Amino acid sequence: MMKDGEKLQSHCIRCGECCLSSSPGLQMADASLVYDGFIEKRNLYTIRTGEVVRDNIHGELKVTDKEIIKIREKENGRGCFYYDERVKGCAIYEYRPVQCRALACWLLFSHGFGFRPCMKQSVFWAGPYPPANQ
Ligand code: SF4
Repeated sequence: MMKDGEKLQSHCIRCGECCLSSSPGLQMADASLVYDGFIEKRNLYTIRTGEVVRDNIHGELKVTDKEIIKIREKENGRGCFYYDERVKGCAIYEYRPVQCRALACWLLFSHGFGFRPCMKQSVFWAGPYPPANQ
């Protein structure tokens, strides 16, 4: 519930909270970003099937039934490797992954959910390029 005087947010205000809280998993559509060198392989890691992960959509821990390639987080634990705190921006903004493009945190407050439908797709990229089913 909103308090008196509060306004609904309708766009990104570059608070940085999303990039500081975690890093994105890559989708099939992101494979070319790696292949073309915009996202460096050394800045990725893989979560293997059967590992415990945090489900951000449902806010709980669960055992994943799929492999997920993610951008690594900073060693000091301050979010995504590509977030530049000095300028409060993404160092690869033009080439950021689908998950980052899809996130609309303000919808969490105005409509009761925080992700656009494409965020809920379960087709993660976890193999060589080009992906086998593309
Ligand atoms: S890739 Fe860029 S937009 Fe996405 S979480 Fe990292 S810093 Fe933020």
